[in-house]
Amino acid sequence: MIKPIAAYLLCITTPVMGLEIKVDYSHDEAIDQFFSSNPEAQQAVEKAAADLGNALSNSMTEVNTDFFSGTNGNTQANFDWWWTYLNPVNGNTETIANPSIASDTIVIYAGTRSLSGKTLGQGGAGGAGVQISGSGFPNEWIDAVDIAEANSNAVMSRGTGPLIGRISGAANFGGYVGQYDLDFGVTVGNLWFDADTDNDGSRDSDAVLATAWHYDAYAPVAAGKFDLYSVALHEMMHVIGAGTSRTWDQLANGTEWLGTEAALVAGTANILESDGHHTLPGIQSVRISDGVLQETVLAPTIAPGIRKELTELDVAILTDLGYLGASAVPEPSSSILLALSGIALVSRRSRRVL
Ligand SMILES: [Zn+2]
Repeated sequence: MIKPIAAYLLCITTPVMGLEIKVDYSHDEAIDQFFSSNPEAQQAVEKAAADLGNALSNSMTEVNTDFFSGTNGNTQANFDWWWTYLNPVNGNTETIANPSIASDTIVIYAGTRSLSGKTLGQGGAGGAGVQISGSGFPNEWIDAVDIAEANSNAVMSRGTGPLIGRISGAANFGGYVGQYDLDFGVTVGNLWFDADTDNDGSRDSDAVLATAWHYDAYAPVAAGKFDLYSVALHEMMHVIGAGTSRTWDQLANGTEWLGTEAALVAGTANILESDGHHTLPGIQSVRISDGVLQETVLAPTIAPGIRKELTELDVAILTDLGYLGASAVPEPSSSILLALSGIALVSRRSRRVL
């Protein structure tokens, strides 16, 4: 039986020089101990996080409180936030009731799960919620809400980088209705890899997983195996907003990308896959590490035996999303479009949580 050359894949990813992408393995450790049992796999994920972080140079605001108030006269409006992400081991929604995060930092909860079909991994940005409360006098309410909104947006949008989402609403206090639009940027996210590679409905043994996955990010990818590092990099791009953010949605118009940096690098605006969350399969760009042409990390599929590193086009897309590239703007002539043939497409949608 002939197997498809290509395959499975990816969704997600990463940071900036000065941006630290921290990977949290606590859910995995509590149940599977996959990463602690496979240190090379953990190193591959760590390398992907570091490489993504080092390709960017944002300054992201610290979040040191989840409570924002606005005071107008004798009236106060309050927004009390929580954040959510998907447990990477069981998919349950986890809530962080009193969230905070250091400046220039993103946290990704990582694990493994049994995924059906050809999906190698999934990743996405976390979500958020807010509770509004207040006290005082109705006729002072609307301005109090506006002030609280401004105080929240100044911190929760995190400065540079994409906005993941916006929570809008209207709070009625004695007939006075305060409208609010609360933005939140990249903070936490989730990422998991397939642990049922033979698709028999149950988790593979470590021995079986090791025949499907290539763990060592510092050695060439073994023939017939899928590179954990490459999949991690892709999924981390999703975690930090590629295909998963409000900002992305504003820049993606069907298969057309409205961001100027990526269009400059690609030489065309038509760079998106029809799923709206990836770059078109086959689009190549130069790797930022060595200038060699390679299909973008954000393409929807990857073939076995292949390692992908960040390309100028991947970084340009992140720049359009609001990140700052660590290096100079790529020359438009440095990338070309090249259609690959014979690749079986596997659309992999990122998980979105809002
Ligand atoms: Zn993807």
